[in-house]
Amino acid sequence: MSERINRRVLLQSRPAGALEERHFRLVETPAPAAGAGEILVRTLYLSLDPYMRIRVGAARSYAPPAAPGAVMVGGIVGRVIESNLAAFAPGDVVEGRLGWQDFAIAAAGDDLTRVDPALAPVSTALGVLGMTGLTAYFGLLEVGRPRPGDTVVLSAAAGAVGSVAGQIARIMGCRVVGIAGGARKTRYLTDELGFDAAIDYRSGAPLGEALNAACPDGVDVYFDNVGGAVSDAVLDRLARGARVVVCGDISQYDLGRPELGPRVQGKLMAAWASMQAFNVFQFRDRHDGARRRLAAWLAAGRLTCREHVVDGLENAPRALIGLLRGENFGKLIVRVAGSGEIENG
Ligand code: NDP
Repeated sequence: MSERINRRVLLQSRPAGALEERHFRLVETPAPAAGAGEILVRTLYLSLDPYMRIRVGAARSYAPPAAPGAVMVGGIVGRVIESNLAAFAPGDVVEGRLGWQDFAIAAAGDDLTRVDPALAPVSTALGVLGMTGLTAYFGLLEVGRPRPGDTVVLSAAAGAVGSVAGQIARIMGCRVVGIAGGARKTRYLTDELGFDAAIDYRSGAPLGEALNAACPDGVDVYFDNVGGAVSDAVLDRLARGARVVVCGDISQYDLGRPELGPRVQGKLMAAWASMQAFNVFQFRDRHDGARRRLAAWLAAGRLTCREHVVDGLENAPRALIGLLRGENFGKLIVRVAGSGEIENG
């Protein structure tokens, strides 16, 4: 029997309105051991993502709601410490949906991806070389279909998905305009990522006027991460033939009742525009090729990524709540293991 303690964060109850720390519970149990056909994985990093807010609610979505009492769902990067599977050896680093816990058991068929530590720091398997980077890649290139010279506008542009999608749009030769909350984030977009313009939607200045100034010929591609009032303003400025990429609408996730907004049909008809939602897992069979392309851009310095690292599994609930308020600046991850463990195996 293992002496290791497994800290696990459970969903305690479903929020009726805004998410709070009381909706989670931290429990400690003995760490499991790998049985036949299983591996035991030590979590190094946990990814915190907006979809988690959807999953703890009861609303209809692309995946079933998380069950109260169950370990919170979440992607992790971890190290294999016991293996009874031929495909994995102790010491291997893997990425998979193993949840908010120190240790997890996985079996063949659990959709684990092997992580190559030589490629980039392993935490990037949760960000630019993982789910959020792939979301940016497929959302922009497959749904947005940018052409050189297009004006591409992104909301939550300084975040994990938005910052990568904006940089890919630059690589494609587009004019890139980012919308983000706060001067620190907008400066990052123009000064460090080379966006052509950035708009602080929280500055108090009218967003429509800022968009008119930044997009004099209208918006060819809108990569929408937030929905709500920000998107209402962008949809009034679509150029002929525009593509609206519905990646997410985080502004609505933490509301007890979604806002009512303007009807969109007229806005789309006025511009002969299309609006398409997508899910990154639609493109699952092409993830490996996209990851190689993202890694090459990263190695060549054409793509940079920013991580927002929070220490300690016990701080994950608070950090997820902060994500819904724009407190993260870059891909939000939790360092679950100590730094010695992460480096030395
Ligand atoms: P981010 O790193 O962008 O973090 C979320 C950001 O959203 C915050 O930092 C904040 O930025 C912004 N935000 C939060 N609340 C609001 C609000 N009320 N109004 C406007 N902006 C808000 O997260 P991700 O990059 O991980 O996710 C971005 C979007 O992509 C989400 O909508 C998510 O659901 C979606 N997504 C979709 C996938 C798909 O397959 N379709 C897969 C993965 C993610 P700021 O300070 O600038 O406001």
